[in-house]
Amino acid sequence: LKIEHVVKAEIAGSTRRGKGTVGDLDILICTKDFKNVSKALANLPHKQIIAMGDTKVSLLLSNNMQVDFRIVDDESFACALQYFTGSKDHNVRVREIAIKKGFKLNEYGLFLKDQKIETKNEEDIYKALNLCYIKPTLRENKGEIEACLSNNLPDVVELEDIKGDLHVHSNYSDGLMSLEEIIQEAIKRDYEYIAITDHSVSSYVAGGLSVERLYEQLNEIDKLKFKYKDKINILAGSEVDIKQDGRLDFDDSVLKDLDIVIASIHQGFGNSKDINTKRIIAAIENPYVNIIAHPTGRLIGQRPPYELDMQSIVEKAAKHKTALEINSFYLRLDLNDEHARLAKTFGAKLCINTDAHTKDNFNYMIFGVLTAQRGWVEKSDCLNTLNYEQLKQFLKKR
Ligand SMILES: [Zn+2]
Ligand SMILES: [Zn+2]
Repeated sequence: LKIEHVVKAEIAGSTRRGKGTVGDLDILICTKDFKNVSKALANLPHKQIIAMGDTKVSLLLSNNMQVDFRIVDDESFACALQYFTGSKDHNVRVREIAIKKGFKLNEYGLFLKDQKIETKNEEDIYKALNLCYIKPTLRENKGEIEACLSNNLPDVVELEDIKGDLHVHSNYSDGLMSLEEIIQEAIKRDYEYIAITDHSVSSYVAGGLSVERLYEQLNEIDKLKFKYKDKINILAGSEVDIKQDGRLDFDDSVLKDLDIVIASIHQGFGNSKDINTKRIIAAIENPYVNIIAHPTGRLIGQRPPYELDMQSIVEKAAKHKTALEINSFYLRLDLNDEHARLAKTFGAKLCINTDAHTKDNFNYMIFGVLTAQRGWVEKSDCLNTLNYEQLKQFLKKR
């Protein structure tokens, strides 16, 4: 999409803050030609024009999503971006600090005694107020200002820190990729390692593998490990169902032959909090289980999370060196940001996976990373930021 006279554009609001769900879309447009740009924006495909002026155009899209375009000039862009990114609570705190120091901060600029201070970017704003730069994902007034003032702001994990995806499905179960397609996709993304983790036998709707099929797959993966040994490290694994009584779908005698074991719940969402928690803790305690996938089972807008005693889960996970997943699939984002922060606080490792079933699904990694950032998760808190040798050490937990 290209509109004439637009110097730059940036997404703001909760989308920029990486929130799991967003109400509407805020887009900031920088231009010198307000009239023509606002006209061009109003001509974008839409169902209804909600507001139309030189500095703001609001459209209702055909999918009922509202998009608010704010049009500003270059001089105000940084302050407008900071303002419209929010959150409201974060901005209240930042403005208070500005006022204490004799400044005035709003969407039009940063002023000292009515003199406009030049701000080329958001960094300049925070710097002028004697604050460190705070990333959008942390701007929720959940302690980031205090952390900044005491020099304890977390150095949160970035997409570039991710060295591999440890939860991927092939066409052995319900994925659409062949084993080799998965491996080639991972190589294309410069991953150091990739895990293949198809469903186990109880997940029959998802084409779960029988023990025989699993060993067939292990055989094929062995050949591919050799074929690609100079390009990538391949981990043969399984996403094993946790049964109603907390036992796993495959016996330990099978699990011990795998490089990596993910355990998760796919059935029995109606159980009590106590039963759910016991099921997950039983899996955490299994010496062969490395990761609990999508721990709360939520599907945003479709299925609420099942009830869990998250505090006990993160404590047990830390104790038994079982990582908890941040599933990056946009409907899951599970663990969510708050749970991720709790896990980090108690020293449980987190693992950001895509649960990819198609090549495109690999792109969702960024959503998991943003969720992790919102949970103050740092590179050192994550499993799949380790290099291959360190990862192997962690996986050998027993
Ligand atoms: Zn699953
Ligand atoms: Zn999965």
